[in-house]
Amino acid sequence: QKPFDPSKKTLVLLGTGWGSTTVLKNLDTENFNVVVVSPRNYFLFTPLLPSCTVGTIENRSIMEPVRLLMRHKSREVRFYEAECTDIDAQNKELTLERRVDADGNQVPAGQGETTKISYDYLVVGVGGTVNTFGTPGVEQHACFLKEMGDARKIRRRLMDSIESASFDDISQAERDRLLHMVVVGGGPTGIEYAGELHDFLVDDLTQWYPELADRVRITLVEALPNVLPAFDKKLIDYTQSTFKENKITILTRTMVKEVKEKSFIVQNPDGSRSEIPYGLLVWATGIKSQPVVDNIRAQFGAAQSNRRGLLVDEYLRVKGASGVWALGDCALSGYAPLAQVAAQQGKWLSRNLNRLAVQNTDDPKADLFALIEKNCRQFKYSSQGSLAYIGSEKAIADLPFFNRNITAGGIATFWFWKSAYLSELFSLRNATLVASDWIKRFFFGRDISRE
Ligand code: FAD
Ligand code: NAD
Repeated sequence: QKPFDPSKKTLVLLGTGWGSTTVLKNLDTENFNVVVVSPRNYFLFTPLLPSCTVGTIENRSIMEPVRLLMRHKSREVRFYEAECTDIDAQNKELTLERRVDADGNQVPAGQGETTKISYDYLVVGVGGTVNTFGTPGVEQHACFLKEMGDARKIRRRLMDSIESASFDDISQAERDRLLHMVVVGGGPTGIEYAGELHDFLVDDLTQWYPELADRVRITLVEALPNVLPAFDKKLIDYTQSTFKENKITILTRTMVKEVKEKSFIVQNPDGSRSEIPYGLLVWATGIKSQPVVDNIRAQFGAAQSNRRGLLVDEYLRVKGASGVWALGDCALSGYAPLAQVAAQQGKWLSRNLNRLAVQNTDDPKADLFALIEKNCRQFKYSSQGSLAYIGSEKAIADLPFFNRNITAGGIATFWFWKSAYLSELFSLRNATLVASDWIKRFFFGRDISRE
């Protein structure tokens, strides 16, 4: 690999998620010195994360080290495993914090080691973080489903609840509490998790814990009148009826107001409040912006007036900034926070940066940030449709087809879902591991060991 070239501009990529990793994959490092900064040294294939919570798929099958991409670049790419905590736009400098102690544990924000790096161009792809809407007790008692650590925690807590429920000397009320699994949020994350949990119950718990399996209850709580508000009405009905068949209770028009250690409080459709005991509670109510985004916004004043993220123009340029692009969940580009949006934005940006850099090789001072508007077409998202797994080997699909939408739900859609995700996985290694996990589960069931 060629070393860093002082005559080339330095492009810093924040994050190793769908947006930034796609930029790295497609960027020609002949033209730039590239630096990647992320607290996570791997890419995570989020669509299959719910499957890791019950062991349908093993964690490492959907993770791929970012150094795999770096290794195949023509010029050296540097990686810093750290969080970007601040930006000095005037001096084009970033503050990084490494929040890991000697044992590999997370240290609180502000207590890690810090360092500064410079950039000429910056691509912000830091994604979002879980939105608790300030609901009391959520941070302390609920599990999230956003990162691999969350899936690991859910799997451990689930097995904890089940093993605790199998003690003889506990009351029936306590056993029922431990075996009540609750999902808050009826968006695709909550629905897919509830579906996976149901499969685990039916396929595995009935074999391993026959005396408990009948008493396990799954409840999904949604504040709106129905689940999956972004999907077609037919698919909503299909999901709700499948959940009913699978004995998953859906409480709609019901809002969780507080989460305690062993129970949670809801506001019912009639305005009254109830307290419901639970053993495991998974909070999947969507995302909000990362703390660093507030610091970035603060640098660009009135142009960045929206607290939900970074306002970008049609060329993904951060409004009010110079040399800074944003993509994916942290960018307010008018599109939904989806992996396919982030990946298409990453592809669009890298392709245009490659082209502009080659056109301007004679002028190393050329400002690609300004040139992109005159020389490139605006970014336009092209939806490939939505797919979601709903349990008992059924999936739903909402697919665009010649200006129309085709909706489908059932077992055939489940096989389509499987093949679509298998083909989209990051690498052949990931696809092989996921396929072998599916085969392993078919023959031997899921692993119930508590790690
Ligand atoms: P992310 O992929 O979240 O990546 C953000 C990156 O930034 C991470 O590497 C993170 O570690 C890093 N980072 C965070 N803070 C900092 C910082 N301060 N400095 C540097 N780096 C930082 N979308 C679909 O289209 N289809 C699906 O089927 C689908 N399924 C999903 C299932 C689940 C369980 C979840 C949680 C999401 C799913 N999504 C799906 C949504 C999709 O995952 C997101 O839209 C997508 O990940 C956004 O990509 P991104 O690059 O913006 O952010
Ligand atoms: P979401 O925003 O799609 O859904 C969250 C749900 O939680 C909402 O319906 C909201 O009404 C509900 N809610 C909020 N507060 C509540 C409360 N206090 N009590 C009860 N309900 C409450 O969130 P998500 O499912 O995490 O998805 C996030 C993004 O990722 C979305 O853009 C989604 O499309 C995408 N995603 C896509 C897929 C897929 O395509 N298969 C899978 C997962 C996520």
